[in-house]
Amino acid sequence: MLKPFLRTPLLPLLCFSVVLTGCYQVPVTGRKALNLTSDTELAKVSAAAFEDVKSKHAKSKDRARIDQLQRVGDRIAKVVFWDMPNADWEFVVFDEPKQINAFAMAGGKVGVFSGLFKIANTDDELAAVIAHEIAHVTARHVHERLSQQMLAEAGSVVGAVGLMGAGAGSLTTSTIMGLYGSSASMQMLAYDRAKEKEADYIGIMYAARAGFNPEAALTVMERLEAETAGKPLPPVFASTHPPTSERITQLQEAMPKALELYQKSGLKPATTVVR
Ligand SMILES: [Zn+2]
Repeated sequence: MLKPFLRTPLLPLLCFSVVLTGCYQVPVTGRKALNLTSDTELAKVSAAAFEDVKSKHAKSKDRARIDQLQRVGDRIAKVVFWDMPNADWEFVVFDEPKQINAFAMAGGKVGVFSGLFKIANTDDELAAVIAHEIAHVTARHVHERLSQQMLAEAGSVVGAVGLMGAGAGSLTTSTIMGLYGSSASMQMLAYDRAKEKEADYIGIMYAARAGFNPEAALTVMERLEAETAGKPLPPVFASTHPPTSERITQLQEAMPKALELYQKSGLKPATTVVR
């Protein structure tokens, strides 16, 4: 309901009038966005939500995949350090072979469902997915969504700032789970198209900076498309995202810049294929 309102030129005005913490600049793209939430509070509640997911889904015992996620995650965590300085990183593979999905939460909590390895096998490919999910976090897409909700609830910027002043104490694990999606179905947060494309763009830049071949993002997209073709319901990872063709086009446009960063990273590890 509030989205069309926020797309109007009013946002720069809000950014100007709201206290300093009311706005932030998205890393890599530089987009200015609204943030009325507390990073610390959101990270704390997200950590509790992650514990909730862990209590409901079995962890994978596949050592090779667990190590692979840790290895890839560690390298991406290093390059996003300044965008998430207080992250307490945790990378978990869940034993869900039918779920082609992955997610990242504020505070550095990252989950991969084992079905994802069907479309992301090598380190470069896994990095493409993880970097996309982490980009949603560094771009503070959840913060933005919550801020829009707070603004809608308060009815005015002044009221929303009041809410913020009262502390984000109104945030609960269930609020956060509501945003991330129910943990039972793991229907991921339905970000709008613009945010998905922003996460795609930021993601390949992060992957490239960490020394992963950014072109792997295209391979993953193509596999995702093949996996979803002719199926009545697409895998969850795809269901809330813009059409794959649209994402591929944007990735191709951004690729020369990403490849430049990849060359500069000086890290060109041999492609590791697990199994
Ligand atoms: Zn996404």
